[in-house]
Amino acid sequence: IVTMEHVQKHFGDLHVLRDINLEVAKGEVVVVLGPSGSGKSTLIRTINRLETIDSGTITVDGKELPSEGKELARLRAEVGMVFQSFNLFSHKSILENVTLGPTKVRKLSKAEAEKEGMQILERVGVANQAQKYPAQLSGGQQQRVAIARALAMKPKVMLFDEPTSALDPEMVQEVLDVMVGLARQGMTMLVVTHEMGFARKAANRVVFMDEGQIIEEAEPQAFFTSPTSDRARDFLSKIL
Ligand code: ATP
Ligand code: MG
Repeated sequence: IVTMEHVQKHFGDLHVLRDINLEVAKGEVVVVLGPSGSGKSTLIRTINRLETIDSGTITVDGKELPSEGKELARLRAEVGMVFQSFNLFSHKSILENVTLGPTKVRKLSKAEAEKEGMQILERVGVANQAQKYPAQLSGGQQQRVAIARALAMKPKVMLFDEPTSALDPEMVQEVLDVMVGLARQGMTMLVVTHEMGFARKAANRVVFMDEGQIIEEAEPQAFFTSPTSDRARDFLSKIL
């Protein structure tokens, strides 16, 4: 459902993505691993055009993302994104955070959006917080709202960029549990994370990046037990 072909990207002289070829099938969960600065965030940000690319093609559900305008907004809605920082609208209630996109972009009525919104908040376990404001929630709850907000747009694929790395340790698991649940329900997901437990439990495939290149792709079990490249072995020896 996501196809990247021969994608190249520079930041000035820095070649951050070097001939990236990646295919994510419908329902597949792909975890992206790699050292700091290897291009993981840049890679997933190009998928919804938060970063432009120099050359190559990226399609989502067969369509190439336009670089701007209304069409971009519509296609972006099909690609949910969850960041390290939750980026909720602080002056809006939890429920409003989740209904804003659906009313604006999907053109749902307020009542429809609220009905759906409550169901989605239920799914991520924060329905009882619907009338509160983001600052009144814990980090783990806020991140689950951020996931709910992305889900409310009915995305075809969800991108996660280190969704648990800004959280206090005791809140990491509740967010990972929601992500594992989504994976089991068949959501297509591309996840940058250092949570090897998540990769083992939920990923169909691990993609290992270094210096802007995809060095290795394998099933989690195979990758963790017998990585084929020296760079992956070196990386794993540092984090495991
Ligand atoms: P981390 O694990 O630390 O999050 P990463 O794998 O996500 O790293 P990226 O954030 O994609 O790495 O960055 C890849 C390289 O591009 C790094 O060298 C980074 O400094 C550089 N870079 C990222 N964003 C920009 C930018 N907007 N302008 C210039 N250089 C950038
Ligand atoms: Mg990053």
